[in-house]
Amino acid sequence: MDYGPAPEASGEVMGWLKARGTFGHYIDGAFTKPAKTFPSADPATGAELAKVAQGSEKDVAAAVKAARAALPGWSKLPGHERAKWLYAIARHVQKRERFLSVLETLDNGKPIRESRDIDIPLVARHFYHHAGWAEMLEEEFPGAVPVGVCGQIIPWNFPLLMLAWKIAPALAAGNTVVLKPAEYTPLTALAFAEICAEIGLPKGVVNIVTGDGETGAALVGAEVDKVAFTGSTEVGRAIRKATAGTGKKLTLELGGKSPFVVFADADLDGAVEGVVDAIWFNQGQVCCAGSRILVQEGIAETFVTRLRARLAKLRTGDPLDKSTDIGAIVDPVQLARIRDLVAKGEAEGAVLHQAEGQLPATGCFFAPGFMTNVAPANIVSEVEIFGPVATLTTFRTPDEAVELANNTRYGLAASIWSENINLALDIAAKVKAGVVWVNATNIFDAGAGFGGYRESGFGREGGREGMREYLSGPVPRAKPETAPA
Ligand code: NAD
Repeated sequence: MDYGPAPEASGEVMGWLKARGTFGHYIDGAFTKPAKTFPSADPATGAELAKVAQGSEKDVAAAVKAARAALPGWSKLPGHERAKWLYAIARHVQKRERFLSVLETLDNGKPIRESRDIDIPLVARHFYHHAGWAEMLEEEFPGAVPVGVCGQIIPWNFPLLMLAWKIAPALAAGNTVVLKPAEYTPLTALAFAEICAEIGLPKGVVNIVTGDGETGAALVGAEVDKVAFTGSTEVGRAIRKATAGTGKKLTLELGGKSPFVVFADADLDGAVEGVVDAIWFNQGQVCCAGSRILVQEGIAETFVTRLRARLAKLRTGDPLDKSTDIGAIVDPVQLARIRDLVAKGEAEGAVLHQAEGQLPATGCFFAPGFMTNVAPANIVSEVEIFGPVATLTTFRTPDEAVELANNTRYGLAASIWSENINLALDIAAKVKAGVVWVNATNIFDAGAGFGGYRESGFGREGGREGMREYLSGPVPRAKPETAPA
């Protein structure tokens, strides 16, 4: 069904971008005049959307200074007062939902259906949820204090949602923040800064500094009390080294190569739809993507046939078109990386099953697919493709499924498909992953801690565990027992 594009909303966004043209950083409640800038482009067309400031060490220092100055006032507010600000942010995000969805889709290339139905509603939900934590803070964590000034660095795959995951718990706990969005997708963070200004959030509580890895490194090295990073394992490792011995609190949310295990007794149609969500959602640019499909031998042929049939129905194209399933890859550099990895995988003997049909003539598009005949030593078995391509291998027994699932340096997520709940729960307990879904995948909730093991990082975001990462002093895992009267 063709629902057609969303012209009015994109007109409003284009007007907003045109009116601003060049964005400065948001420091101490105001936008700075940028000295050096870089373009942010629409990956579906290559068109420049705006110019954005490249943050220097000096800009980062100014932002950290503003956050430091705001800290005493903000942290001393009673939790229920901070909650009011978080509720106000959540309401304003909801009010501007259409606008933010279109802006996200333009800057990132993700289908509008996803930004409208998933990303932006989850952003609002995250602020609502954490407003609740602010209200309950004294009761849930008696004696705990905020960590202080937090330097937060986020990736480009869920730009505004990752911002929410970082900023909402930090503010709820009484910290102030300097956040650096990814260089490919800075625009919704800047729109968020406008929301902070519009609601009159005390200046310096939220600061946004745009820029690339150098800006990120400057933030890691600045006078912050905590660094919270989401991104690649390589950069996470560098940040761990840079913060070692500095006393800075650190949380790392890194990459993954998550198993998607289908047992012979699974609801196969459900599992096929699961693959759509696991690896083709957001063009596979998802840290917890189910990128390694493991299928029990007896059903492998049927499963591959059904998966190919489903693949053929996916529509790749204009991200602003509401009927599009697969949008654009975020940037030509990422597209080249995906092409390179898939070509290497094929050269090493894997067979690529890819959706057929015309891709748009311009823009960063890659047809979704999956690979079979994948040897364990094949590069695509080990390396995160971070694109819409999964590997598919078979297993015979539950033990072998566990062995294959754990045969990775990562440990972020896993998805198990079986109609035998005892089997599914047994496997779930044996798979080393921070999040395990049963007969489901890629489900996120603000109240559930998310994070990994091993090279997927450490620390949790969301819920009680996530709050603990932004507090110091007594921060019990469970709610303190109230003494009987
Ligand atoms: P990236 O590590 O290249 O960049 C992430 C952020 O770090 C960007 O803002 C970037 O500017 C900044 N950065 C780059 N070099 C830096 C440095 N030396 N010091 C400080 N900051 C620096 O990763 P990416 O390509 O943007 O994102 C893709 C990766 O992120 C994937 O591996 C994916 O799995 C991971 N990811 C993980 C999660 C999670 O929650 N675990 C979520 C989303 C993405």
